[in-house]
Amino acid sequence: MRFGVMCLAPCRYTDMEHISDHDLDRYYLGMVVDEAELAPLEEHLLCCHGCLERAENSGKDIDTLRAAMVAGNFDLEDSVREDY
Ligand SMILES: [Zn+2]
Repeated sequence: MRFGVMCLAPCRYTDMEHISDHDLDRYYLGMVVDEAELAPLEEHLLCCHGCLERAENSGKDIDTLRAAMVAGNFDLEDSVREDY
């Protein structure tokens, strides 16, 4: 087992910082709409399994949170309509 084999394709983003959990959440929620931010983020996910895994995990967390909100366990907003 050698180090440095995680990135199979030459990747110019290996030098950049890994994606933060916060940004992964924003990406998953579709809140990253700026192409200048989105493009490197997606390319990083293509070649960085660590971040991809974290993206999937945070995605699951968000799905859980959403499900809980739908189920009414979270009262984040008083104005949430219940006729939906
Ligand atoms: Zn990464």
